[in-house]
Amino acid sequence: MNPTMKKIIIANWKMNPATPKEALRIFSVIHKETKSIKNIDVIFTPPFVFLPLLKQAKLGAQDVFFEKSGAFTGEISALQLKAYGITHVIVGHSERRAMGETEEIVQKKLKTVLESGLKAILCIGENERNREEAFPVIMRHELHSALLKIKKSALRNLIVAYEPIWAIGTGHAETPEHAFEITILIRRDLYKIAGRSIASKIPIIYGGSVASKNAVSFIKDGGMDGLLVGGASLRAREFVKIVKGSSEVQK
Ligand code: PEP
Repeated sequence: MNPTMKKIIIANWKMNPATPKEALRIFSVIHKETKSIKNIDVIFTPPFVFLPLLKQAKLGAQDVFFEKSGAFTGEISALQLKAYGITHVIVGHSERRAMGETEEIVQKKLKTVLESGLKAILCIGENERNREEAFPVIMRHELHSALLKIKKSALRNLIVAYEPIWAIGTGHAETPEHAFEITILIRRDLYKIAGRSIASKIPIIYGGSVASKNAVSFIKDGGMDGLLVGGASLRAREFVKIVKGSSEVQK
C-alpha cells in the first residue's frame, strides 16, 4: 500500500438495478452519506443506461469497445464515454472474459482506454483457489498479455484489480494476508514492466466478496490501495459502511 495514494472504491453494479428509480435511490443514499469523505475516491460503474442519471457521481463504465467509431452495433467507444465525463473503465472483468472476451480483446480495450486518457481498471485473477498456481497464471496469461503493447507512459492511468474469480459473488473472500502476498508479486512485475517511478504509483485494489466485515482489513492488513465491490455496492447502507470504514483507516 502506498500511504500517500488516495484510496479508490469502485461500486460495480453489474447489470443491476432494474429501474432508473432504484438506481437513483441507491445512489442518493450512498452519496448523501459519503460525499464529505475526502480521502477516498468512490467511483460508480452502473449499467451504461444509468450513467447520465448519476450526474453527481464520479463515474466509470463497466466495458468499452476498442474501435473509435463506425458500424459496431451495440458497442460504445472510449471517446463517447469521455464526452459524458466518465473517467474510469473496467477492462477484462472475469464475467466478460467468461462471455468470450479473449486476451487479445482485453489488450485492445486496455490500449484504447489508456490512450484515450481514461483510467483503466484491469481485472486479473485466478480461476481456482490454488495458491501455487495462482501467481504464474495471473502473470503469464493476464497481466503480461494485457500490458504487452502499452506504452510505459500510458501506464500512469492504470489501476490493477486483483479479483480471484472463485471469490467473486460467492461470499468467500480471499484473506487479506494472501491478497497482500499477491499484490507484492504483481507490484514486482509492474516494476519490471513500467519502471519504479511509474509502477510504484499504480494502485492495486482487491475485489471478491468485499463486505463491511472485511473491507477495513483488506486496506489495513492487505495493504490494498482500494476495493472493487460488486454485490455489496447495491446495498446502500452496507456500501456506506465499507466506504466509511476504509476512510477511517487512513486517518
Ligand atoms: C465484482 O463485481 O468484480 C465483484 C468483486 O463482485 P462481488 O463483490 O459481488 O464479489
